[in-house]
Amino acid sequence: MPTDFASLRAQFDLPKGVIYLDGNSLGPLPSAAAARVAKTITEEWGKLLITGWNKAGWMAQPSAVGDRIAKLIGAEAGSVVMGDTLSIKVYQALATALEMNPKRRVILSDTGNFPSDLYMADGLCRTLGPDYILKTVAPEEVLDAIDDTVAVTLITEVDYRTGRKHDMKAITKRAHEKGALTVWDLAHSAGALPVHLAACNADFAIGCTYKYLNSGPGGPAFIYVAPRHQEKARPALSGWLGHQQPFAFDLDYTPGNGIERMRVGTPPVLQLAALEAALDIWEQADMADVRAKSIALIDRFIAGVEGSFPDLTLASPRDGTLRGSQASFRHPEGYDIMQALIANGVIGDFRAPDILRFGFTPLYINENDVDMAVAILADIMTQSLWDRPEYKTRSRVT
Ligand SMILES: *Cc1c(COP(=O)(O)O)cnc(C)c1O
Repeated sequence: MPTDFASLRAQFDLPKGVIYLDGNSLGPLPSAAAARVAKTITEEWGKLLITGWNKAGWMAQPSAVGDRIAKLIGAEAGSVVMGDTLSIKVYQALATALEMNPKRRVILSDTGNFPSDLYMADGLCRTLGPDYILKTVAPEEVLDAIDDTVAVTLITEVDYRTGRKHDMKAITKRAHEKGALTVWDLAHSAGALPVHLAACNADFAIGCTYKYLNSGPGGPAFIYVAPRHQEKARPALSGWLGHQQPFAFDLDYTPGNGIERMRVGTPPVLQLAALEAALDIWEQADMADVRAKSIALIDRFIAGVEGSFPDLTLASPRDGTLRGSQASFRHPEGYDIMQALIANGVIGDFRAPDILRFGFTPLYINENDVDMAVAILADIMTQSLWDRPEYKTRSRVT
């Protein structure tokens, strides 16, 4: 059955008069999430108190929810677990992968990667010692830069600024040919496009849930470890909930079974409740339909913008199959233009130095939204509505 996008859209609480093109940064509120979280608070926390860990299944939730995420990213059951933030998961995956490739010292990433991933990699190298280095090359040079010094590649599949998409299959293949392991960051892939971790033979993957998966601000991240590596993976962040028997309170650490060992500490039960409600919507969506509609919406937006404003330069790949679920444009006054758009009900975001970024998520964005966003942008550009003092002060979050 084809995905009923009108029905999906009706399951989100979007403020009236807002066209929300920033689900790539923070997904909107699924209507059912508010009641689900309230129920977890009053019925579970309120009534069950500490017995909720067993009776309400809180302790099993990170891997139960992980299995639901696994279906969205082409991963095997029992290979994904929830917890922590994405930055922490970057560190955890890298540290584990480095230990599994002990003769090598190089983490390879690219200059299009999200800075937090690079900072975490750099910090890990500093902790491990002077031999360890983070090497970054231009995104288009990644494939050629994978040589037999590389221990692990740390690549974000979809560039957060431009939406350019890496070829997961080709890079993973090359990495394996050269004896390297792969860590894939799916921050802008999970819920945005079909991902095939198992089919690509990926080793590790990580991602967040508050972007395209709509778990809300501070929602937990996930980590994937390929089943073939799970029993060899020694968690660097060896917290008690990754222990084989946390409640034995053993003084020595024994890693838990399979993916459970990638758990660290107490799971965020309230955020996981919100995520569960968000994932109920995903059960009604076919990822291939989502991808096809996302490409069509973005093509329509690009055509609308380019047809009217040649001074906005497309920063995303024109070929829809080569980009994620966003369109980015460069303009020297990008920050001010985005503030004017937001003031006029079109919410996107700005990424330094000059990128206007618009995320398109067919779960709640349709053709009419695209056309209205183009029309509002037209007013702002033709009347220079952006050129006002109130649009020039930078807030803490852009
Ligand atoms: C959004 C994003 C992050 C954010 O990490 P948090 O720890 O969740 O704040 C990290 N890496 C990439 C590639 C991202 O897109």
